[in-house]
Amino acid sequence: MAEGQGAVERLAAVRAEIEKACREAGRDPASVTLVAVSKTFGADAIQPVLAAGQRVFGENRVQEAKAKWPALREEFPGVELHLVGPLQSNKAKEAVALFDVIHTVDRPKIAEVLAAEIAKQGRRLRLFVEVNTGAEPQKAGVLPENADAFIAECREKYGLAIEGLMCIPPLDEAPAPHFALAAKIAGRSGLALLSMGMSADFASAIAFGATHVRVGTAIFGERHYDQRMSM
Ligand SMILES: *Cc1c(COP(=O)(O)O)cnc(C)c1O
Repeated sequence: MAEGQGAVERLAAVRAEIEKACREAGRDPASVTLVAVSKTFGADAIQPVLAAGQRVFGENRVQEAKAKWPALREEFPGVELHLVGPLQSNKAKEAVALFDVIHTVDRPKIAEVLAAEIAKQGRRLRLFVEVNTGAEPQKAGVLPENADAFIAECREKYGLAIEGLMCIPPLDEAPAPHFALAAKIAGRSGLALLSMGMSADFASAIAFGATHVRVGTAIFGERHYDQRMSM
């Protein structure tokens, strides 16, 4: 109970910070969507945030989301669910059925299976291409120098209506140049949406044009991976 209340207070603080960052950037706060990243947190931690009116949530694993969200969606209509973690092609069917938005389209195989599943299920999803702006070998995402060609391939070869770019700057670097690079790549491909900014840097991301900020810790508190719900 106390923990849930804390999350509701932190949610209000995050919303206030988003509004402040928008004011400072001369942007309309309605142009920024807060994606509350609830990965590792169970229904009891998420319910108070839903009750406080938040409806846009992010998860990074298909199986975890599938275990938590169908029941929460029955309880709270109007939820929009975002996949912010990497997608395996063998999970594409479940992901297309469950999620409204996928932030992590990053290779031809995934583009191909998503296109097939979207057609088969008759779903309308919003899609972002993930760009590995720091060219980190361990990280998902298309390399910046391949981004334009990959976006074109998604559109022309697979018929996917890509609407935005997503990036996760390297942990040990200033995020601003990465946000600027993502914004530049999005601009030249005519992509209107930018998914960037997390708990530590969403205000900076808003200054660089983020339309979707993905905030977990600043709302739900620290994650404890050893307590992650079993899949
Ligand atoms: C976990 C996660 C977030 C949220 O990170 P916080 O630092 O807790 O706000 C955002 N984006 C992605 C892709 C994540 O996996």
